Amino acid sequence: MTPDHSHIHCDQHGEALPTFVCGHLFKHPVQRWFGDAPTADVPYPDSWCARCNAEFLKVCEWTEDNSDCLDLTIICHRCYENSKASSVESLGGKDKKAWIEAVTAGYHALVEKQRALEADYGISHFERWDYDQSTGTLTFSDGGVARLVADIEFIGSVSATGGTWLWAWANFHNEAQVVSRIPAVRDHGEKNGFLHLTVPLWRGGETDGWELSGVAAKVLSAKGVYRVPTDDGFLYMALMSIDRVG
Ligand SMILES: [Zn+2]
Ligand SMILES: [Zn+2]
Repeated sequence: MTPDHSHIHCDQHGEALPTFVCGHLFKHPVQRWFGDAPTADVPYPDSWCARCNAEFLKVCEWTEDNSDCLDLTIICHRCYENSKASSVESLGGKDKKAWIEAVTAGYHALVEKQRALEADYGISHFERWDYDQSTGTLTFSDGGVARLVADIEFIGSVSATGGTWLWAWANFHNEAQVVSRIPAVRDHGEKNGFLHLTVPLWRGGETDGWELSGVAAKVLSAKGVYRVPTDDGFLYMALMSIDRVG
């Protein structure tokens, strides 16, 4: 299972990158996916189902002895992305109940945090805001004078054209300074079986963005969340700390 960067042809998507999934995920993508977290070098890591993962966990690597179950299948990276996106729909039972509780608690906590940001800093009343990925800061200013500087961490973004949510930890265009802490939210999802925190991209909109931001702000102990428009939707960022300047 060495990464292969050559292209394959997909009937649906044309020229695309080859990715590897177990035969069970290929046939039934709406289930939990296992495998490494994506990285800039390996954005579509080899993935397998819970049954294959039980084999994997026996030695914590794939060997000649335990890889027979995999029935490894090559699919195009866009089919991979779409299939993996659909896996969030498999959340059910106890995990789903716990997830709904986590979203509700995160959202209520976020409403309180946003109220406090307004009361303490009047955060919605500045003439302009500017963020700088290289310094990891969001600056609020009036009359060309900076008034507040926040330490920011990107949470994720909503694409209006794609109708999708993309976690900042899986968006490799982001600079390191704004995504050093967000992987803790993915880890929280891994621990609790919260698929919406571990699947990089899935069908979601503005409301999902706020709900996930509430959960992320809680996990990160952020002071609040700021949302800015992008060319194609919105970017949500956690405000980790805020300083008055000027
Ligand atoms: Zn499998
Ligand atoms: Zn495809």
